[in-house]
Amino acid sequence: MKLNLFSTLPVRHELLKSIAALNYETMTDIQVQALPHLLKNRDILAQARTGSGKTAVFAIGLLNKLNIQSYFTQAIIICPTRELSDQVATEIRKLASTIPNTKVLTLCGGKPMGPQLASLRRDPHIVVGTPGRILKHLKIKTLKLNKIETLVLDEADRMLDMGFYDDILKIIEVTPVSRQTLLFSATYPESIKQVSKKVQRDPLDIRVESSHDIPEINEILFEVEKSHRIEMIYKIIAHYEPESSLIFCNTKQLCQQLATELKQYNIHALALHGDLEQFERDQVLTQFSSKACSVLIATDVAARGLDVTALSAVINFELSYDPELHIHRIGRTGRAGAKGLAISLFSNTERRRLEAIEEYQGAQIKITSTDTLSRPIDFKLYPPMVLLFVNGGKKEKLRAGDLLGALTASDSIIASQVGKITLFDKFAYVAIDQKVGKLALDILSNNNIKGRKFRVRRLN
Ligand code: AMP
Repeated sequence: MKLNLFSTLPVRHELLKSIAALNYETMTDIQVQALPHLLKNRDILAQARTGSGKTAVFAIGLLNKLNIQSYFTQAIIICPTRELSDQVATEIRKLASTIPNTKVLTLCGGKPMGPQLASLRRDPHIVVGTPGRILKHLKIKTLKLNKIETLVLDEADRMLDMGFYDDILKIIEVTPVSRQTLLFSATYPESIKQVSKKVQRDPLDIRVESSHDIPEINEILFEVEKSHRIEMIYKIIAHYEPESSLIFCNTKQLCQQLATELKQYNIHALALHGDLEQFERDQVLTQFSSKACSVLIATDVAARGLDVTALSAVINFELSYDPELHIHRIGRTGRAGAKGLAISLFSNTERRRLEAIEEYQGAQIKITSTDTLSRPIDFKLYPPMVLLFVNGGKKEKLRAGDLLGALTASDSIIASQVGKITLFDKFAYVAIDQKVGKLALDILSNNNIKGRKFRVRRLN
Protein backbone atom coordinates (compact mmCIF):
# COMPACT_ATOMS: atom_id res chain seq x y z
CA MET A 1 0.00 0.00 0.00
CA LYS A 2 1.35 3.42 -0.90
CA LEU A 3 1.42 5.75 2.07
CA ASN A 4 1.02 8.86 -0.01
CA LEU A 5 -2.43 8.02 -1.34
CA PHE A 6 -5.30 10.08 0.05
CA SER A 7 -7.36 6.88 0.29
CA THR A 8 -5.16 5.77 3.20
CA LEU A 9 -6.55 8.63 5.31
CA PRO A 10 -9.50 8.20 7.65
CA VAL A 11 -11.58 10.92 5.96
CA ARG A 12 -15.25 11.09 4.92
CA HIS A 13 -15.95 9.66 1.49
CA GLU A 14 -17.22 12.99 0.10
CA LEU A 15 -13.75 14.43 0.61
CA LEU A 16 -12.05 11.57 -1.20
CA LYS A 17 -14.43 12.26 -4.09
CA SER A 18 -13.63 15.98 -4.30
CA ILE A 19 -9.90 15.26 -3.98
CA ALA A 20 -10.17 12.86 -6.92
CA ALA A 21 -12.17 15.42 -8.90
CA LEU A 22 -9.35 17.93 -8.35
CA ASN A 23 -6.90 15.36 -9.76
CA TYR A 24 -4.78 15.34 -6.65
CA GLU A 25 -3.23 11.93 -7.19
CA THR A 26 -0.78 11.67 -4.34
CA MET A 27 -0.22 13.67 -1.21
CA THR A 28 2.50 16.31 -1.09
CA ASP A 29 5.17 16.10 1.64
CA ILE A 30 3.35 18.28 4.09
CA GLN A 31 0.10 16.41 3.51
CA VAL A 32 1.81 13.08 4.23
CA GLN A 33 3.38 14.43 7.39
CA ALA A 34 0.54 16.47 8.79
CA LEU A 35 -2.77 14.90 7.82
CA PRO A 36 -2.69 11.65 9.84
CA HIS A 37 -2.06 13.63 13.07
CA LEU A 38 -4.23 16.58 12.21
CA LEU A 39 -7.16 14.22 11.58
CA LYS A 40 -6.71 12.97 15.16
CA ASN A 41 -7.29 16.56 16.29
CA ARG A 42 -3.66 17.32 17.13
CA ASP A 43 -2.42 20.92 16.94
CA ILE A 44 0.11 21.45 14.15
CA LEU A 45 2.91 23.99 13.80
CA ALA A 46 4.08 23.73 10.21
CA GLN A 47 6.76 25.47 8.28
CA ALA A 48 5.65 25.26 4.69
CA ARG A 49 5.95 27.57 1.76
CA THR A 50 3.20 28.50 -0.68
CA GLY A 51 2.92 25.77 -3.25
CA SER A 52 3.50 22.96 -0.78
CA GLY A 53 -0.17 22.04 -0.68
CA LYS A 54 -0.65 23.48 2.81
CA THR A 55 -4.11 24.92 2.15
CA ALA A 56 -5.48 21.46 1.40
CA VAL A 57 -3.97 20.25 4.69
CA PHE A 58 -6.09 22.46 6.89
CA ALA A 59 -9.06 22.46 4.49
CA ILE A 60 -9.29 18.66 4.59
CA GLY A 61 -8.86 18.67 8.38
CA LEU A 62 -11.60 21.17 9.10
CA LEU A 63 -14.01 19.86 6.46
CA ASN A 64 -13.68 16.35 7.83
CA LYS A 65 -14.94 17.55 11.21
CA LEU A 66 -17.66 19.81 9.86
CA ASN A 67 -21.20 19.17 10.98
CA ILE A 68 -23.24 20.56 8.15
CA GLN A 69 -26.56 20.34 10.02
CA SER A 70 -25.29 22.60 12.77
CA TYR A 71 -25.64 26.21 11.80
CA PHE A 72 -22.84 27.94 13.62
CA THR A 73 -19.28 28.91 12.74
CA GLN A 74 -17.10 25.86 13.27
CA ALA A 75 -13.81 26.97 11.72
CA ILE A 76 -11.95 30.22 11.20
CA ILE A 77 -8.91 30.83 9.03
CA ILE A 78 -7.01 34.06 9.62
CA CYS A 79 -4.90 35.29 6.68
CA PRO A 80 -2.67 38.35 6.17
CA THR A 81 -4.28 39.61 2.96
CA ARG A 82 -7.49 39.70 1.03
CA GLU A 83 -5.95 37.86 -1.92
CA LEU A 84 -4.82 34.98 0.26
CA SER A 85 -8.24 34.87 1.95
CA ASP A 86 -9.93 34.60 -1.44
CA GLN A 87 -7.49 31.92 -2.54
CA VAL A 88 -8.03 29.90 0.64
CA ALA A 89 -11.82 30.23 0.42
CA THR A 90 -11.71 29.05 -3.20
CA GLU A 91 -9.70 25.95 -2.29
CA ILE A 92 -12.04 25.14 0.62
CA ARG A 93 -15.09 25.55 -1.63
CA LYS A 94 -13.57 23.20 -4.20
CA LEU A 95 -12.87 20.56 -1.59
CA ALA A 96 -16.33 21.07 -0.09
CA SER A 97 -18.10 20.79 -3.45
CA THR A 98 -19.22 17.26 -2.55
CA ILE A 99 -20.60 18.31 0.85
CA PRO A 100 -23.85 20.11 -0.03
CA ASN A 101 -24.75 23.38 1.71
CA THR A 102 -21.31 24.12 3.13
CA LYS A 103 -21.21 27.85 3.73
CA VAL A 104 -17.84 29.56 3.46
CA LEU A 105 -17.65 33.32 4.02
CA THR A 106 -14.73 35.69 3.53
CA LEU A 107 -14.48 38.71 5.81
CA CYS A 108 -11.84 41.14 4.59
CA GLY A 109 -11.13 44.80 5.00
CA GLY A 110 -11.56 47.17 2.05
CA LYS A 111 -14.93 45.53 1.33
CA PRO A 112 -18.35 47.02 2.22
CA MET A 113 -19.86 45.82 5.50
CA GLY A 114 -23.44 45.39 4.21
CA PRO A 115 -23.08 42.12 2.29
CA GLN A 116 -20.85 40.70 5.06
CA LEU A 117 -23.53 41.45 7.66
CA ALA A 118 -26.19 39.81 5.49
CA SER A 119 -24.07 36.68 4.99
CA LEU A 120 -23.24 36.49 8.69
CA ARG A 121 -26.95 36.38 9.52
CA ARG A 122 -27.05 33.10 7.61
CA ASP A 123 -24.48 31.53 9.96
CA PRO A 124 -21.53 30.45 7.82
CA HIS A 125 -19.87 27.17 8.79
CA ILE A 126 -16.44 28.46 7.88
CA VAL A 127 -15.05 32.00 7.98
CA VAL A 128 -11.88 33.11 6.19
CA GLY A 129 -10.57 36.63 6.62
CA THR A 130 -8.07 39.24 7.64
CA PRO A 131 -7.52 40.12 11.33
CA GLY A 132 -8.82 43.71 11.31
CA ARG A 133 -12.18 42.94 9.76
CA ILE A 134 -12.73 39.77 11.80
CA LEU A 135 -12.10 41.78 14.95
CA LYS A 136 -14.50 44.48 13.81
CA HIS A 137 -17.28 41.90 13.42
CA LEU A 138 -16.48 40.43 16.83
CA LYS A 139 -16.74 43.90 18.40
CA ILE A 140 -20.17 44.57 16.92
CA LYS A 141 -21.17 41.00 17.79
CA THR A 142 -22.11 40.01 14.26
CA LEU A 143 -19.62 37.13 14.32
CA LYS A 144 -19.50 34.48 17.03
CA LEU A 145 -16.50 32.28 17.51
CA ASN A 146 -17.43 30.78 20.87
CA LYS A 147 -18.11 27.35 19.39
CA ILE A 148 -15.38 27.00 16.81
CA GLU A 149 -13.52 23.72 16.61
CA THR A 150 -10.67 24.67 14.28
CA LEU A 151 -8.60 27.84 14.17
CA VAL A 152 -6.00 28.31 11.44
CA LEU A 153 -3.32 30.99 11.26
CA ASP A 154 -2.11 31.02 7.66
CA GLU A 155 1.15 32.76 6.71
CA ALA A 156 1.53 33.63 10.37
CA ASP A 157 4.97 35.17 9.83
CA ARG A 158 3.53 37.68 7.36
CA MET A 159 0.78 38.57 9.80
CA LEU A 160 3.34 39.30 12.48
CA ASP A 161 5.41 41.37 10.01
CA MET A 162 2.30 43.38 9.24
CA GLY A 163 1.70 44.14 12.93
CA PHE A 164 -1.34 41.91 13.46
CA TYR A 165 -0.04 40.25 16.64
CA ASP A 166 -2.42 41.99 19.07
CA ASP A 167 -5.42 41.60 16.79
CA ILE A 168 -4.79 37.88 16.43
CA LEU A 169 -4.56 37.38 20.17
CA LYS A 170 -7.78 39.34 20.70
CA ILE A 171 -9.55 37.07 18.22
CA ILE A 172 -8.19 33.92 19.81
CA GLU A 173 -9.31 35.10 23.26
CA VAL A 174 -12.96 34.64 22.34
CA THR A 175 -12.54 31.10 21.00
CA PRO A 176 -12.93 27.96 23.13
CA VAL A 177 -9.77 26.50 24.64
CA SER A 178 -10.85 23.08 23.36
CA ARG A 179 -10.28 24.21 19.75
CA GLN A 180 -7.69 22.66 17.43
CA THR A 181 -5.11 25.29 16.42
CA LEU A 182 -3.13 25.00 13.20
CA LEU A 183 -0.30 27.44 12.54
CA PHE A 184 1.37 27.73 9.14
CA SER A 185 4.36 29.90 8.43
CA ALA A 186 6.89 30.13 5.60
CA THR A 187 9.68 31.21 7.92
CA TYR A 188 10.42 30.25 11.48
CA PRO A 189 11.60 33.23 13.52
CA GLU A 190 11.54 33.25 17.33
CA SER A 191 8.32 35.29 17.33
CA ILE A 192 6.45 32.42 15.63
CA LYS A 193 7.59 29.97 18.27
CA GLN A 194 6.36 32.37 20.94
CA VAL A 195 2.94 32.75 19.34
CA SER A 196 2.70 28.97 19.04
CA LYS A 197 3.52 28.59 22.75
CA LYS A 198 0.80 31.04 23.61
CA VAL A 199 -2.01 29.65 21.49
CA GLN A 200 -1.26 25.95 20.83
CA ARG A 201 -1.30 22.80 22.92
CA ASP A 202 1.55 20.35 22.39
CA PRO A 203 1.75 21.05 18.66
CA LEU A 204 3.37 18.63 16.27
CA ASP A 205 6.28 20.47 14.68
CA ILE A 206 6.55 19.84 10.94
CA ARG A 207 9.03 21.39 8.55
CA VAL A 208 8.85 20.57 4.91
CA GLU A 209 10.81 23.44 3.54
CA SER A 210 14.43 22.68 4.02
CA SER A 211 16.36 25.68 2.85
CA HIS A 212 18.82 23.29 1.23
CA ASP A 213 16.28 21.63 -0.89
CA ILE A 214 14.54 23.46 -3.68
CA PRO A 215 15.02 20.88 -6.39
CA GLU A 216 12.24 21.83 -8.73
CA ILE A 217 13.54 25.33 -9.49
CA ASN A 218 16.14 26.10 -12.10
CA GLU A 219 18.04 28.98 -10.47
CA ILE A 220 20.05 31.20 -12.80
CA LEU A 221 22.29 34.09 -11.82
CA PHE A 222 23.61 36.85 -14.10
CA GLU A 223 26.18 39.45 -13.09
CA VAL A 224 24.99 42.78 -14.53
CA GLU A 225 25.74 46.37 -13.62
CA LYS A 226 22.74 48.33 -12.34
CA SER A 227 22.74 50.67 -15.34
CA HIS A 228 22.27 47.76 -17.78
CA ARG A 229 19.57 45.90 -15.92
CA ILE A 230 16.48 47.09 -17.77
CA GLU A 231 17.97 46.06 -21.09
CA MET A 232 18.97 42.77 -19.49
CA ILE A 233 15.40 42.09 -18.35
CA TYR A 234 14.33 42.62 -21.95
CA LYS A 235 16.93 40.12 -23.16
CA ILE A 236 15.92 37.58 -20.52
CA ILE A 237 12.24 37.79 -21.41
CA ALA A 238 13.05 37.56 -25.12
CA HIS A 239 15.27 34.53 -24.54
CA TYR A 240 13.15 32.49 -22.15
CA GLU A 241 9.76 33.79 -23.32
CA PRO A 242 8.03 32.94 -20.03
CA GLU A 243 4.26 32.82 -20.36
CA SER A 244 3.93 34.73 -17.10
CA SER A 245 6.61 36.26 -14.96
CA LEU A 246 6.89 38.14 -11.70
CA ILE A 247 9.78 40.57 -11.37
CA PHE A 248 10.80 41.62 -7.86
CA CYS A 249 12.24 45.05 -7.09
CA ASN A 250 13.12 46.30 -3.62
CA THR A 251 11.32 49.65 -3.94
CA LYS A 252 8.02 50.85 -5.36
CA GLN A 253 9.72 53.63 -7.34
CA LEU A 254 11.80 51.05 -9.14
CA CYS A 255 8.73 48.89 -9.88
CA GLN A 256 7.04 51.83 -11.56
CA GLN A 257 10.17 52.91 -13.45
CA LEU A 258 10.80 49.40 -14.76
CA ALA A 259 7.19 49.01 -15.95
CA THR A 260 7.39 52.33 -17.79
CA GLU A 261 10.74 51.58 -19.40
CA LEU A 262 9.81 48.05 -20.47
CA LYS A 263 6.97 49.54 -22.51
CA GLN A 264 9.62 51.14 -24.70
CA TYR A 265 10.90 47.64 -25.39
CA ASN A 266 7.39 46.55 -26.41
CA ILE A 267 6.87 44.58 -23.24
CA HIS A 268 3.56 45.18 -21.58
CA ALA A 269 4.29 45.07 -17.86
CA LEU A 270 2.33 46.29 -14.87
CA ALA A 271 3.60 47.42 -11.48
CA LEU A 272 2.03 46.30 -8.20
CA HIS A 273 3.03 48.28 -5.15
CA GLY A 274 1.74 49.78 -1.95
CA ASP A 275 0.85 53.17 -3.44
CA LEU A 276 -1.98 51.73 -5.52
CA GLU A 277 -5.58 52.19 -4.42
CA GLN A 278 -7.43 48.92 -3.77
CA PHE A 279 -9.33 49.47 -7.03
CA GLU A 280 -6.12 49.82 -9.03
CA ARG A 281 -4.62 46.81 -7.29
CA ASP A 282 -7.66 44.68 -8.22
CA GLN A 283 -7.35 45.90 -11.80
CA VAL A 284 -3.67 44.96 -12.03
CA LEU A 285 -4.24 41.56 -10.44
CA THR A 286 -7.19 40.83 -12.72
CA GLN A 287 -5.14 41.72 -15.79
CA PHE A 288 -2.35 39.41 -14.67
CA SER A 289 -4.55 36.48 -13.69
CA SER A 290 -6.60 36.80 -16.91
CA LYS A 291 -3.44 36.67 -19.03
CA ALA A 292 -4.03 40.24 -20.20
CA CYS A 293 -0.60 41.08 -18.82
CA SER A 294 2.29 38.65 -18.84
CA VAL A 295 4.76 40.55 -16.69
CA LEU A 296 4.05 41.79 -13.20
CA ILE A 297 6.57 43.88 -11.30
CA ALA A 298 6.18 43.92 -7.53
CA THR A 299 7.76 44.64 -4.20
CA ASP A 300 7.84 41.79 -1.66
CA VAL A 301 5.09 43.37 0.40
CA ALA A 302 2.78 43.92 -2.58
CA ALA A 303 3.28 40.36 -3.83
CA ARG A 304 2.06 38.81 -0.58
CA GLY A 305 -0.91 36.57 -1.00
CA LEU A 306 -0.80 36.80 -4.77
CA ASP A 307 -2.31 33.75 -6.45
CA VAL A 308 0.57 32.51 -8.53
CA THR A 309 -0.08 28.88 -9.36
CA ALA A 310 0.92 29.18 -12.99
CA LEU A 311 3.99 31.44 -12.76
CA SER A 312 6.57 30.36 -15.33
CA ALA A 313 9.37 32.57 -14.02
CA VAL A 314 10.42 34.73 -11.10
CA ILE A 315 13.02 37.38 -11.90
CA ASN A 316 14.93 39.29 -9.24
CA PHE A 317 15.79 42.69 -10.67
CA GLU A 318 17.98 43.03 -7.59
CA LEU A 319 18.74 40.59 -4.81
CA SER A 320 16.79 40.77 -1.60
CA TYR A 321 18.60 41.84 1.56
CA ASP A 322 17.01 38.94 3.38
CA PRO A 323 17.92 35.36 2.34
CA GLU A 324 14.60 34.03 3.62
CA LEU A 325 12.74 36.50 1.44
CA HIS A 326 14.82 35.36 -1.51
CA ILE A 327 13.62 31.78 -0.97
CA HIS A 328 10.09 33.03 -0.58
CA ARG A 329 10.35 34.94 -3.86
CA ILE A 330 11.73 32.09 -5.93
CA GLY A 331 9.34 29.61 -4.29
CA ARG A 332 6.55 31.25 -6.25
CA THR A 333 7.63 29.52 -9.43
CA GLY A 334 7.59 25.74 -9.75
CA ARG A 335 4.59 25.04 -7.57
CA ALA A 336 3.01 21.62 -7.04
CA GLY A 337 5.21 19.63 -9.36
CA ALA A 338 5.91 21.99 -12.31
CA LYS A 339 9.57 22.93 -12.72
CA GLY A 340 10.18 26.60 -12.06
CA LEU A 341 12.61 29.18 -13.38
CA ALA A 342 14.18 31.75 -11.08
CA ILE A 343 16.55 34.33 -12.55
CA SER A 344 18.46 36.84 -10.44
CA LEU A 345 20.54 39.83 -11.42
CA PHE A 346 23.31 41.05 -9.19
CA SER A 347 26.37 43.28 -9.34
CA ASN A 348 29.56 43.39 -7.34
CA THR A 349 28.03 45.79 -4.81
CA GLU A 350 25.43 43.15 -3.96
CA ARG A 351 27.99 40.40 -3.36
CA ARG A 352 27.31 40.32 0.38
CA ARG A 353 23.65 39.67 -0.28
CA LEU A 354 24.56 36.85 -2.65
CA GLU A 355 26.86 35.29 -0.08
CA ALA A 356 24.13 35.42 2.56
CA ILE A 357 21.71 33.68 0.19
CA GLU A 358 24.26 31.01 -0.71
CA GLU A 359 25.03 30.41 2.93
CA TYR A 360 21.35 30.11 3.71
CA GLN A 361 20.75 27.71 0.84
CA GLY A 362 23.85 25.76 1.72
CA ALA A 363 25.07 25.84 -1.88
CA GLN A 364 26.75 28.20 -4.28
CA ILE A 365 24.76 29.50 -7.19
CA LYS A 366 26.66 29.29 -10.46
CA ILE A 367 27.00 32.55 -12.38
CA THR A 368 25.80 32.15 -15.94
CA SER A 369 27.46 34.17 -18.67
CA THR A 370 25.20 36.74 -20.28
CA ASP A 371 26.55 35.55 -23.66
CA THR A 372 24.30 32.50 -23.35
CA LEU A 373 21.30 34.71 -24.05
CA SER A 374 20.21 34.94 -27.66
CA ARG A 375 20.22 38.37 -29.27
CA PRO A 376 16.61 39.54 -29.54
CA ILE A 377 15.52 40.57 -33.03
CA ASP A 378 12.34 42.59 -33.12
CA PHE A 379 11.04 40.83 -30.04
CA LYS A 380 7.69 42.03 -28.74
CA LEU A 381 5.75 40.63 -25.85
CA TYR A 382 2.07 41.25 -25.96
CA PRO A 383 -0.27 39.24 -23.75
CA PRO A 384 -2.59 36.68 -25.35
CA MET A 385 -5.70 38.30 -23.91
CA VAL A 386 -7.12 41.80 -23.66
CA LEU A 387 -9.15 42.93 -20.69
CA LEU A 388 -12.40 44.84 -21.09
CA PHE A 389 -13.91 46.93 -18.32
CA VAL A 390 -17.71 47.00 -18.20
CA ASN A 391 -19.38 49.66 -16.04
CA GLY A 392 -22.00 47.30 -14.60
CA GLY A 393 -21.79 44.41 -12.18
CA LYS A 394 -23.66 42.33 -9.63
CA LYS A 395 -25.74 45.35 -8.53
CA GLU A 396 -27.20 45.48 -12.05
CA LYS A 397 -27.86 41.73 -11.72
CA LEU A 398 -25.27 41.12 -14.41
CA ARG A 399 -23.95 37.56 -14.50
CA ALA A 400 -20.99 36.04 -16.32
CA GLY A 401 -23.46 34.13 -18.49
CA ASP A 402 -25.09 37.38 -19.70
CA LEU A 403 -21.76 38.73 -20.93
CA LEU A 404 -20.71 35.42 -22.46
CA GLY A 405 -24.11 35.12 -24.14
CA ALA A 406 -23.90 38.63 -25.63
CA LEU A 407 -20.39 38.00 -26.92
CA THR A 408 -21.15 34.67 -28.58
CA ALA A 409 -24.68 35.47 -29.84
CA SER A 410 -23.64 36.25 -33.41
CA ASP A 411 -21.16 33.35 -33.73
CA SER A 412 -18.35 35.74 -34.69
CA ILE A 413 -16.79 35.05 -31.28
CA ILE A 414 -16.67 31.54 -29.88
CA ALA A 415 -16.81 30.67 -26.18
CA SER A 416 -13.21 29.45 -26.10
CA GLN A 417 -12.05 32.95 -27.08
CA VAL A 418 -13.64 34.37 -23.95
CA GLY A 419 -11.43 34.13 -20.87
CA LYS A 420 -12.02 34.90 -17.25
CA ILE A 421 -15.07 37.02 -16.43
CA THR A 422 -14.79 38.71 -13.03
CA LEU A 423 -17.80 40.42 -11.53
CA PHE A 424 -17.65 43.07 -8.84
CA ASP A 425 -20.63 44.96 -7.41
CA LYS A 426 -20.51 47.90 -9.78
CA PHE A 427 -18.33 46.71 -12.64
CA ALA A 428 -17.04 43.65 -14.41
CA TYR A 429 -13.92 42.57 -16.25
CA VAL A 430 -13.99 40.37 -19.32
CA ALA A 431 -10.82 38.79 -20.68
CA ILE A 432 -10.93 38.08 -24.38
CA ASP A 433 -8.59 36.65 -26.98
CA GLN A 434 -6.69 39.63 -28.43
CA LYS A 435 -7.60 38.52 -31.97
CA VAL A 436 -11.23 39.42 -31.27
CA GLY A 437 -10.64 42.16 -28.71
CA LYS A 438 -11.90 45.00 -30.88
CA LEU A 439 -14.93 43.02 -32.01
CA ALA A 440 -15.81 42.12 -28.40
CA LEU A 441 -15.55 45.76 -27.39
CA ASP A 442 -17.98 46.74 -30.18
CA ILE A 443 -20.43 43.97 -29.33
CA LEU A 444 -20.55 44.76 -25.63
CA SER A 445 -20.78 48.53 -26.16
CA ASN A 446 -23.44 48.49 -28.89
CA ASN A 447 -25.86 45.82 -27.71
CA ASN A 448 -28.39 45.81 -24.93
CA ILE A 449 -27.45 43.46 -22.14
CA LYS A 450 -30.06 42.81 -19.47
CA GLY A 451 -32.17 45.48 -21.15
CA ARG A 452 -29.62 48.27 -20.99
CA LYS A 453 -26.42 49.56 -22.56
CA PHE A 454 -23.17 49.50 -20.64
CA ARG A 455 -20.06 51.56 -21.15
CA VAL A 456 -17.13 49.35 -22.03
CA ARG A 457 -13.46 50.18 -22.43
CA ARG A 458 -10.29 48.30 -23.09
CA LEU A 459 -7.70 48.27 -20.33
CA ASN A 460 -4.57 46.96 -22.05
P1 AMP B 1 -0.84 25.81 -1.58
O1 AMP B 1 0.51 25.45 -1.05
O2 AMP B 1 -1.91 25.43 -0.62
O3 AMP B 1 -0.92 27.21 -2.05
O4 AMP B 1 -1.13 24.84 -2.85
C1 AMP B 1 -0.51 24.97 -4.08
C2 AMP B 1 -1.29 24.33 -5.22
O5 AMP B 1 -1.17 22.91 -5.19
C3 AMP B 1 -2.77 24.63 -5.23
O6 AMP B 1 -3.12 25.02 -6.54
C4 AMP B 1 -3.43 23.33 -4.87
O7 AMP B 1 -4.69 23.23 -5.51
C5 AMP B 1 -2.44 22.29 -5.38
N1 AMP B 1 -2.41 21.03 -4.61
C6 AMP B 1 -2.59 20.86 -3.28
N2 AMP B 1 -2.45 19.57 -2.93
C7 AMP B 1 -2.15 18.88 -4.06
C8 AMP B 1 -1.87 17.51 -4.36
N3 AMP B 1 -1.86 16.57 -3.42
N4 AMP B 1 -1.61 17.18 -5.64
C9 AMP B 1 -1.62 18.14 -6.60
N5 AMP B 1 -1.86 19.45 -6.41
C10 AMP B 1 -2.12 19.84 -5.14
